[in-house]
Amino acid sequence: MTRGKPREKSEKQIQNEILAMIKAEPNLFAFKASDRVNRGIPDIIGVAKDYFPSFYATDGCNLIVTRTGAVEKSAGKMFLIEVKRRGGKPTDLQMEMIRRFTAMGAIAFIAESVDQARQRLKTHGLLG
Ligand SMILES: [Mg+2]
Repeated sequence: MTRGKPREKSEKQIQNEILAMIKAEPNLFAFKASDRVNRGIPDIIGVAKDYFPSFYATDGCNLIVTRTGAVEKSAGKMFLIEVKRRGGKPTDLQMEMIRRFTAMGAIAFIAESVDQARQRLKTHGLLG
């Protein structure tokens, strides 16, 4: 029996694709978090070695050159990704976690696909 629509990817499949993408990026390290113990924790917790906000240039290692020409060492930047199936909605607790991590200076966002995750990592300066 054939179905008209291809089956949507499960959240688990999307998580695995995002983790594989991150694993291939030397600037990033991340792992799958379990919310069995910590309810509402985002699915993926990671850190970027170099952090490239748009107003910085980089010399190719983790030294950054600011607009004024000062050179400083780039600090690692924590990031968290809440993965959802297409059209999936985060719970109130998940949104609260994203807000709290963001308030503490981490980068936290929701992604529905590996492409979206990559784009957000770039937008936030975690990928070149
Ligand atoms: Mg999730």
